[in-house]
Amino acid sequence: MSGRSDLAVIELAAASDVGRVRADNQDRELLAPPLIAVADGMGGHLGGGTAAGLAVDALRAAGAAATSDPTALLEALRQANRAIARAATDDPDLTGMGTTATAAVLEGGILYLVHVGDSRAYLVRDGRIIQVTEDHSVVAEMVRRGTLSADAAENHPARHVITRALGVDADIEIDALRVDLEPADVVLLCTDGLSGPVDDDGILEVIEGSATLEAAATGLVDRANAAGGPDNVTVVLARVDAVTREAAATG
Ligand code: MG
Repeated sequence: MSGRSDLAVIELAAASDVGRVRADNQDRELLAPPLIAVADGMGGHLGGGTAAGLAVDALRAAGAAATSDPTALLEALRQANRAIARAATDDPDLTGMGTTATAAVLEGGILYLVHVGDSRAYLVRDGRIIQVTEDHSVVAEMVRRGTLSADAAENHPARHVITRALGVDADIEIDALRVDLEPADVVLLCTDGLSGPVDDDGILEVIEGSATLEAAATGLVDRANAAGGPDNVTVVLARVDAVTREAAATG
């Protein structure tokens, strides 16, 4: 089954902020439409930003190939996994670094996603918000197993502990997803600096209440900071809609 080939990215926006608590911003984002991504680095003063940067670099390098062959996205994350592990071995300052990565290609009416960690992809459609990715975190896995309630997960002390990250293990398990897009769909990629302090309804409210994606991106960062800004916060938003062949060609 193929998606609507007349759908293309018509609007794109991103915002990133250090938040109110952290000293530096170790989140990274990529806007190379139809490829978009976020990465949330961890591991020391230098390591986090380096790991997230290596993930984004690998995705950017895959760029053109990834838009025609989504398996190139998977290969890019495997390559980033090796590059981060190698850099961490070579430089003691970078020991223990790793990163989440959530990357999407919106092409031919289809959303292709690859995902490791607790950054998220959401789909906003017809006034509703749907979380497309599953968090690879200790508490999310407990909720999925039924050993922890969703309410208890929100304030659980281990809520930031992730179970998968690029750069940590030689073998990395990467989620790959495919969703058919519809006209006017908005895709949101974000780090946990948004999804931690702001719930899904709050995210939807900001997006639905903003005239442009640019305003929505800024509004989401503001909302996270108003809720305490406990972490670096990064959002990337893309809207698809029907375009004529000529409009698509001339951009
Ligand atoms: Mg984070």
